[in-house]
Amino acid sequence: TEAWGPDDDEPRPHRGPVKVRVPAKINLHLGVGPLRPDGYHELNTVYHAISLFDELTARRGDTLTLTMEGEGTGELALDESNLIIRAARALAARRQVPAFARLHLRKSIPLAGGLAGGSADAAATLIACDLLWGLGMSRDELAEVGAELGSDVPFLLHGGTALGTGHGEAVSPILARPTVWHWVVAIADGGLSTPAVYRELDRLRAADQPAPPVPLGGTDRLMAAMRQRDPEVLGEALGNDLQAAALSLRPQLADVLKAGHEAGALAGLVSGSGPTCVFLAADAAHAQEVADGLSAARVCRAVVTARGPQPGARVT
Ligand code: ATP
Repeated sequence: TEAWGPDDDEPRPHRGPVKVRVPAKINLHLGVGPLRPDGYHELNTVYHAISLFDELTARRGDTLTLTMEGEGTGELALDESNLIIRAARALAARRQVPAFARLHLRKSIPLAGGLAGGSADAAATLIACDLLWGLGMSRDELAEVGAELGSDVPFLLHGGTALGTGHGEAVSPILARPTVWHWVVAIADGGLSTPAVYRELDRLRAADQPAPPVPLGGTDRLMAAMRQRDPEVLGEALGNDLQAAALSLRPQLADVLKAGHEAGALAGLVSGSGPTCVFLAADAAHAQEVADGLSAARVCRAVVTARGPQPGARVT
């Protein structure tokens, strides 16, 4: 299918189907500042896209419809609350075109897992509908629409490894020599609500006990570690201010972190607001070894290996 006319560069509507793949994100460093008056926390984060993907297909239609299959989709409403529908409507409203499409999601990113699956789906929708409707918008323009849908949407449009500031929506890519990092992802049973984890962090910080979360410093150390391209060094620089709060709400996560350590991981941490935990391995074979050890410990629902960085949402 031709997306562009032969004689001009004007973007044209696409006949469809348009298939978009989008990665999950983890935070290599997640520094959480104080609560701002607008209800957000000031973040200092290093985002990293890994090879765990959702896939969105967009076809032409004469109304807006959504179907879903896969991980956790039975628990997700198909109505106007769904981030996919909201993304399609927001894009159509921005360019004043009708929000007509038949959308189908194949989900692998666990729901409410701290891997930004919802933001990933919104990012995939923006890329797919932009092409289907022939809008020709840049990634930066789409990121502007996306930031209103979820803090992680701009990152998931860009992918790779990037610095996130503000409440995470302001992203700047980290330009580093290409290095592949190997991860083991421990998927938990059931999700954790991101707002609840932030509230718990505020509570722990206010109470300052029994175990005061140690606030992370800046992202400099993490970025310096990445430049060394040594997984042992990177492992020592990983950190997440939300980890104490996630552990407080879900104490079993301590068993997962311990099992990963015992399976030989170089480092492990809670991903974002959890409950997914991620472990760093030295190479692909080591990642498989850690994954096998972690599976055998029976402390989580599923274990997968992944590689990062990955590109953001893109047409396949
Ligand atoms: P984050 O890491 O960004 O905090 P998360 O990975 O913990 O997010 P998500 O899977 O992104 O959590 O979803 C959070 C909530 O968003 C879900 O519990 C659900 O209520 C809502 N939601 C709406 N639409 C979607 C969607 N298409 N996919 C996933 N979640 C959605």
